[in-house]
Amino acid sequence: MILETFLFLNGNKKRLYTIPKTEETFVTFDFTLPKQVLYALDTLSQAGYEAYVVGGCVRDFLMGIKPHDYDITCSASPEEMKKVFQNDKLLLTGEKHGTVTVLKDGMPLEITSFRCDGKYLDGRHPESVTFTRSLEEDLKRRDLTINAMAFHPQKGLVDLFDGRGDIERKIVRCVGDPLERYDEDALRLLRTLRFAARLGFSIDPATSDALHEKRFDLEKISRERIREEMTGILIADHFVSIALDYADVVFAAIPELSPMQGCPQQCIFHSYDVWEHTVRAVAACPKDPLVRWAALLHDIGKPSTRRRDENGADHFYGHAEAGVAIADRVTESLRMSNAWQDEIHMLVRRHDEVLTPDDMLELLSQIGPERARHLILLHMADQAAHSPLFARKADRGNQLLEAIDRIEKSGACWKLSQLAITGDDVRALGLTGPAIGDTLSYLLQAVVRYHVPNDRDLLLQAAAAHAESLVSAFQNKAETQKTNTGNAT
Ligand code: ATP
Ligand code: MG
Repeated sequence: MILETFLFLNGNKKRLYTIPKTEETFVTFDFTLPKQVLYALDTLSQAGYEAYVVGGCVRDFLMGIKPHDYDITCSASPEEMKKVFQNDKLLLTGEKHGTVTVLKDGMPLEITSFRCDGKYLDGRHPESVTFTRSLEEDLKRRDLTINAMAFHPQKGLVDLFDGRGDIERKIVRCVGDPLERYDEDALRLLRTLRFAARLGFSIDPATSDALHEKRFDLEKISRERIREEMTGILIADHFVSIALDYADVVFAAIPELSPMQGCPQQCIFHSYDVWEHTVRAVAACPKDPLVRWAALLHDIGKPSTRRRDENGADHFYGHAEAGVAIADRVTESLRMSNAWQDEIHMLVRRHDEVLTPDDMLELLSQIGPERARHLILLHMADQAAHSPLFARKADRGNQLLEAIDRIEKSGACWKLSQLAITGDDVRALGLTGPAIGDTLSYLLQAVVRYHVPNDRDLLLQAAAAHAESLVSAFQNKAETQKTNTGNAT
């Protein structure tokens, strides 16, 4: 028996459902489904099919979190769905996998036929997808108990594997035998870590053992999917404990990280080995995926550059440069975009630079404000993850960020388009081609690095002088060449 009640909050109608918890007790949840989702469920029911919301949104509702999307599962085949929704706008790109997308009032609704996956022969793709009329079969093929629940406003919660109990106990557990489930699809290894890291849940012992045992199956997974799942793990609230307890699984996904574990950093500034320092640095970054990836890779050059001196202290001279080469390999192998590869390269290379507020104008002219902020955030996170003795230095980062804000607000010149003269002005002095860009860059350097005022008359004079010196340098070069050729003949 389920009881549906409505609550009006700030004029919004909320649907609350009271459902049995045990034989004697009941529990109330807010399952306020958008009207488009209710439309899809009703339309399918009226046509004689079973239909439920399923997976992530049910989990989120039970945890009191507003879902970011709603997956619908139903007993109709894709052909049947096309008939049921013949008056709606449909997207059929997922039809082969049983998914029809209905576009309703601007909301895409992904509706999938009940499925049971066929045999997985390669640990990645089911050999075949079989449609079924059984909700139970559909729930059985899902990865985790907390993701394998379905809900219908009149029929209530369908929870065949005690997903609700696992949410209460804060446990992530595979549906069925974990070894078999990971054998079928190794991506589930990283999905398990991602959900545990996101929700702060512990991992059920049998699932945990299977994660360690099956970790090398991650080799079968495409690098793009590894990247996507790892990004989800990196930005999760509970990243630290998962990255420390399941480091071996993370290393199976990205082997270049593994030498950091157990690499000591014997000195007063560090309390942790390189891996634990790295993990703490990632967690100290804002939840920007790119900055977190850079933090994951920032010290990857340390293991190969470590030297212990006669006093027993460790040094890592040149580790940023050494790290760049390894980080490049990682970002390329994970097929990151060129822009990401480029920025992570810069962040790893420069993560150890000492910067002061006076350097900010030049930093902006080199890499622009967005990347400059990322670099400083990485510096701050890096420092926060040293020993507590050193962590206090993180305050300095705020002064750098404030300096960037001040520069931006003041309108101070740090880029070519802000210079008081333009390419046309330089062309009017008789320069052509690349000499125009050269002259402008020279003037920008003068303004940014040597604090020459950004004044039109002054810059025109400086440009004329620079143009003259460029021309005479060319003439000298041409004459030397002529003489050399003459001597040779
Ligand atoms: P999120 O909030 O991250 O979107 P989600 O649970 O909705 O979480 P999705 O990746 O959108 O996760 O997948 C939707 C549902 O499909 C899951 O809840 C799960 O039931 C099922 N699922 C997705 N990927 C797999 C997989 N590799 N193996 C088994 N079931 C899966
Ligand atoms: Mg989802």
